[in-house]
Amino acid sequence: MARIVHKYGGTSVAGVERIRAVAERVAAAHAQGHELAVVVSAMAGETDRLVGYCRELMPLPDGAEADVVVASGEQVTAGLLALALKARGVPARSWLGWQAPVTTSDAHGAARVLSITTTAMEAAMAAGEVAVVPGFQGATASGRVTTLGRGGSDTSAVALAAALQADECLIFTDVEGVFTTDPRIVPRARKLERISYEEMLELASVGAKVLHARSVELAMKHRVRLAVLSSFADAPGTWVVSEEDIVESQHITGVAYNRNEAKVTIVAVPDRPGAVAAIFGALADANINVDMIVQNIAHDRAFTDVTFTVPRTELVRARAVLEEARATIGFDRLIADESVVKVSVVGVGMKSHAGVAVTMFRALGERGINIQAITTSEIKISVLIAEEYLELAVRVLHSAYGLDAAA
Ligand code: ADP
Ligand code: ASP
Ligand code: MG
Repeated sequence: MARIVHKYGGTSVAGVERIRAVAERVAAAHAQGHELAVVVSAMAGETDRLVGYCRELMPLPDGAEADVVVASGEQVTAGLLALALKARGVPARSWLGWQAPVTTSDAHGAARVLSITTTAMEAAMAAGEVAVVPGFQGATASGRVTTLGRGGSDTSAVALAAALQADECLIFTDVEGVFTTDPRIVPRARKLERISYEEMLELASVGAKVLHARSVELAMKHRVRLAVLSSFADAPGTWVVSEEDIVESQHITGVAYNRNEAKVTIVAVPDRPGAVAAIFGALADANINVDMIVQNIAHDRAFTDVTFTVPRTELVRARAVLEEARATIGFDRLIADESVVKVSVVGVGMKSHAGVAVTMFRALGERGINIQAITTSEIKISVLIAEEYLELAVRVLHSAYGLDAAA
């Protein structure tokens, strides 16, 4: 008998029939005598719909009230799954974020899990009741509803697995595991049997949305046994493991992309100490994350241009913040480009092999794809390119690093 956390994503609970199928899978694990907690996402498309309502009423919605609205999608599926289980004769109850409670920071829309109280839940699970937990949501210490950021149900599941000291955390989704790249873009992507926490974290951070980055970080920190697998098939998935458990590492393990990018160029910033701090200080004060940064050398030694990226979803706010600080920063104008994407290659093998970057630049250059910005880490290289080349770039890089499955 083991204690297991399952998590089902939006497509896996996208209607009554899918929820019945999930109940069947959960019931089978329950019949084997396991203690189970099941985390669910909102039905596919539901969170977008709820976000849309909020924006219609208030273009930059109040975070606390928006969270009340968007957290409701997961409440619905949690209740429905508990009903589906009970209808099959499996004891179950839902535990909403504020009930467990899942206590989070008060950063609405991007809250972090601080603690999860599991005493009552554990007692119920030990008595044979399945705990059904809505993902994505929590509550502040003062009782306000929060959400963990888009894709955050994975993080709910891993945080719960850590709090319950579960034997494993199984993330069920609409693909059979973690692939060398998004299998919806590259049909010849290969499923990985295992991937290291480090590489998975890097892939998730640069856009591979198969796992929420924070969930991988938590799994790594608390050594949660984590797997990604399909809720639509009975195939072995991908285990996320320690680097020592990977026998042979490739130069590049995977290719990822992120469409949620916007490029901002601040034209004619005074070339003096503190100017860059003024730009990024204003953005940081507004809680806007900046990713790639390119500062050009001043042509005439008086002014320079600074280019950087922010999430596309934050561009409106970023522009407003910078325009407001224009006098203090002292720039001429701001140019924004929303038709860019970031493509990244990730692999621990990069640490010990030369020439990995040049393979990337050459492969893109040969296809006439212009690189607008570059960033690197120890195990990652990212480039910013025009959005129209996204699919071509991912395919070309996947081949260039020898990742294609045999035809
Ligand atoms: P869920 O709703 O189950 O959380 P998501 O849509 O958040 O599912 O994540 C699964 C999707 O992630 C897949 O459908 C796939 O298109 C995408 N994806 C991106 N990169 C990868 C990758 N390297 N391996 C597998 N899936 C990936
Ligand atoms: N429903 C939320 C979202 O769409 C959380 C999740 O599915 O992980 O972002
Ligand atoms: Mg997801």
